[in-house]
Amino acid sequence: MAVIVQKYGGTSVGALDRIANVARRVSARKDQGNDLVVVVSAMAGETDRLINLAKEITPIPNEREMDMLVSTGEQVSIALLAITLESMGYKAKSYCGWQLPLTTDSAFGAARVTNIATDKISEDLANGVIVIIAGFQGVDENGSITTLGRGGSDTSAVAVAAGLKADLCEIYTDVDGVYTTDPNIVPEAKKIPSIAYEEMLEMASLGAKVLYIRAVEFAMRHKVPLIVRSSFNDNEGTLVTEESSDMENKSVRAVTCSTKEAKITFSGIPDVPGTASQLFGALAEANVIVDVIIQNSSEEGKTDISFTLPLADLDKGLEVCRGVREILGAEKLAGSKDVAKVSIIGLGMRSHSGVASRMFAALAREGINIEMISTSEIKISCVIQKKYAELAVRVLHDVFELEKPL
Ligand code: ADP
Ligand code: ASP
Ligand code: MG
Repeated sequence: MAVIVQKYGGTSVGALDRIANVARRVSARKDQGNDLVVVVSAMAGETDRLINLAKEITPIPNEREMDMLVSTGEQVSIALLAITLESMGYKAKSYCGWQLPLTTDSAFGAARVTNIATDKISEDLANGVIVIIAGFQGVDENGSITTLGRGGSDTSAVAVAAGLKADLCEIYTDVDGVYTTDPNIVPEAKKIPSIAYEEMLEMASLGAKVLYIRAVEFAMRHKVPLIVRSSFNDNEGTLVTEESSDMENKSVRAVTCSTKEAKITFSGIPDVPGTASQLFGALAEANVIVDVIIQNSSEEGKTDISFTLPLADLDKGLEVCRGVREILGAEKLAGSKDVAKVSIIGLGMRSHSGVASRMFAALAREGINIEMISTSEIKISCVIQKKYAELAVRVLHDVFELEKPL
């Protein structure tokens, strides 16, 4: 008998008929003699709705109260799924994160899982109960409800799978696997049958929201094999697993794009030691995750610093920057939402040369200006104007021939 953890995302539980569909899938696997633990997200659109309610009151709501608010979406869907399964004659029991408990640190809105107690789950499974767990949420050591970041139900599922040493962790969503790029943007995108944790990690951090980055990190650390599949059909999905030799055959395996980026620029900062450390220290203290950084040293001992950060953190980031502006002696401070980051990813970049120049040439041919560049061993990212985001993805997908079979 296998222990299977399944996670269903917002669209998969977006209405009662979809919840009934999930219940049928879960019960079919249970009928085959497996132990089932199901992690669910809030119904599609619900988390956004709750966030917008709070933002109508104030642009930067209290973080603890935000988590109290947004975690409620998942409480609704777990109960609805449990009620559906019970009505079909199955034993089912739902749990919020704090009831297990799934403990986290106190970084509200982006909390990290520190432990998961599995005794209640194991006891229920032993009694033939289908266990349903609210994704996205946990509890800190003070008893405050926390959330794990947008898309964080994936992390909950992987954490549960790791804690239970489950045989399989299946992530059910509205696409039937991980594609060479978002299939909703490029219809020619190809499904990738198996992808290395490292590539998936880069994809997730660079905008492929099909899996949440921390879930991939967790899976990699605990060697949890993940399968991404659709809750709408029975197609084979994508296996996220350890690297294998054939994965390096192609230089680029995927293109991603993130439009949820913002940029902050400080101009005319006196060019003295300690500037970057003060600025980025203050941002780190406020839990603002900074991504691409560019510093131009100019004449007359002044410098400009630009950096990107998640769009959702722009207000918070600007507030921190205003706080340090005087200390830094900066002449100007500006925030911009008009940026996107387009990236190419592949383990094969380690052994193929000329990849960067092909990327830059392709963007140049379309008249797309590159504002910032960042690279790692297996990825190259360019920050560009937001209006060119989809065009850049299509062009890069085409140039690196990703529509061709792997
Ligand atoms: P869920 O609500 O089930 O967690 P998400 O919306 O978070 O689903 O993730 C699934 C979406 O990810 C897809 O609908 C697709 O538009 C998007 N996506 C982006 N990049 C990729 C990719 N490379 N492969 C598959 N899906 C992708
Ligand atoms: N409901 C949360 C969100 O929309 C968590 C998730 O769906 O994974 O971000
Ligand atoms: Mg998701």
